[in-house]
Amino acid sequence: MTVMTNSRILVVEDSPQMLNLIRTILLRAGFEVTTGSNGKEGLAAVESSEVDLIISDIMMPEMDGFQFCQEVRKNSRISNIPFIFLSARGGIQDKMSGFQDGADDYITKPFDPNELVMRVTAMLMRASRYRMEAYTDSLTGLSNRRYFDKKLGEMVSLAHRYKQPFSLAMLDIDFFKDFNDKFGHLVGDQILIHLGKFLRDELRDSDFSCRYGGEEFVIILPDTTKESAFHLVDRLRKKFSETPLVEDGGSYQVTFSIGLAEYPTDADTAREMVKCADDALYESKTAGRNATTVYRKR
Ligand code: GH3
Ligand code: MG
Ligand code: MG
Ligand code: MG
Repeated sequence: MTVMTNSRILVVEDSPQMLNLIRTILLRAGFEVTTGSNGKEGLAAVESSEVDLIISDIMMPEMDGFQFCQEVRKNSRISNIPFIFLSARGGIQDKMSGFQDGADDYITKPFDPNELVMRVTAMLMRASRYRMEAYTDSLTGLSNRRYFDKKLGEMVSLAHRYKQPFSLAMLDIDFFKDFNDKFGHLVGDQILIHLGKFLRDELRDSDFSCRYGGEEFVIILPDTTKESAFHLVDRLRKKFSETPLVEDGGSYQVTFSIGLAEYPTDADTAREMVKCADDALYESKTAGRNATTVYRKR
């Protein structure tokens, strides 16, 4: 079974011996481990750091496991984190309360170390499949807007910390409404799939493309000034305009326009970056479309 390495597990348990035992088992299985000795400490840990899964005792001082689980489920930022009870209380009433409070699994003490590791691994794999699905655009297979928002936020913090520029390109298909009207939405959808595949094939592994919405796509180019980014994306624009979709005997050609902005030269928040790229894109459109514009402050 694949071990989900780099997964961080929060273990909340008031008995130091038991906490140490669970911690040792998980570390040996290759997980990263954070700990807390009651629900309050657990909640503080999960609110302030990245946690992939929670294992919690029930009987604890200050805040017990049931209450802790309820608090986790109430906060939308952390409410989807898998939660497993690991308790000496094995009665059906306790198990029912645990699941009613939002637990995903319930293991009783004494427990088998291998079973614990297996249940944790299975749950992490399921969570990772869900996360993948939540971040993927179902039509093109590219990342979606939700992932883009998260990624752009991360890029801004990273670029700020390491003083490295990055560029953002916003793409919008030209006259796509007319295209749909002429050939139908199903062919229009095929064009979006075609463009998604084109971007995946043409971009460097380090660059990151996603479907922003409708017929709009974005590319994040890490560690790249907008001048370098210009050469790269303008080459893409030209190449795509010479790469028709060939389907059912028909050949369909569309073009797209691009707007480019750079962090931190043009903007210092994620929101402003999108705004600047969007303004530049608008200029490409008014200049006649099938063009690339680099944002300039006016
Ligand atoms: P412009 O050159 O100014 O961008 O013109 P446009 O027609 O592309 O722009 P507009 O924003 O007016 O229209 C966008 C069109 O994109 C409208 C909609 O029919 C089409 N569209 C958006 N999402 C999808 C989709 O998922 N599938 C298909 N087939 N069409 C879509
Ligand atoms: Mg206890
Ligand atoms: Mg549009
Ligand atoms: Mg358009």
